[in-house]
Amino acid sequence: MTAVRRLADLAWPEVHELAANGALLAIPLGATEQHGPHLPLSTDTEVAIALCEALAHSRDDVVIAPAVPYGSSGEHIGFAGTLSIGQDATELVITELGRSACETFAHVLFVSAHGGNAGPLTRAVARLRVESRDVRAYTPAWDGDPHAGHIETAIMLTLRPTTVRMDRAETGNTRPLRELMPQLREHGLRAVTENGILGDPLGATAFHGDLLLGRLAAALSREVSAWRATEPA
Ligand SMILES: [Zn+2]
Repeated sequence: MTAVRRLADLAWPEVHELAANGALLAIPLGATEQHGPHLPLSTDTEVAIALCEALAHSRDDVVIAPAVPYGSSGEHIGFAGTLSIGQDATELVITELGRSACETFAHVLFVSAHGGNAGPLTRAVARLRVESRDVRAYTPAWDGDPHAGHIETAIMLTLRPTTVRMDRAETGNTRPLRELMPQLREHGLRAVTENGILGDPLGATAFHGDLLLGRLAAALSREVSAWRATEPA
């Protein structure tokens, strides 16, 4: 297991040397948005950081950037605490961070754990690549509860158990996401779920969360290995 290197803890000559040796910068992209009555608003940010940390443990060429704690969360409007910067600002933040990061690092990876960032992230990364920058994006994918349900609850129980209020967890809207999508796109989550949950967090365990996180981290590690194997250092 490799020690985790955090950009924020390093001084510039150390970063210069790491980058010169082919290090890649992993930038966690999160959100500050409601995750039901039982999970903290930082849930997506925590998951993105955890995936970057797992990647840094599995390879010795990873430096982790400070996380971006805001994203495009307009669909969660009407739930207290959600702070969204919208699609355009998210795209611009990712684009400018990518350009700036590539001044130092030859390889940059964005790890987003928030579905709402998908559009801006895809557009920003496509643009950065057109500009000849070696930038990639990774978004964990899972079958099952899309928002604040079993999966995110289990993962948070393993990552930050003290922030999870299981006594307040309750079943949300369990209909398949594809059925809810038209209404969701039009009116946001508020229209389809009273408590902000899509899925069912009841019965989630830290044990299962650990397993799930391990699988997501392994998928990320495979993707990065394939990427780095095809590019010169
Ligand atoms: Zn989430």
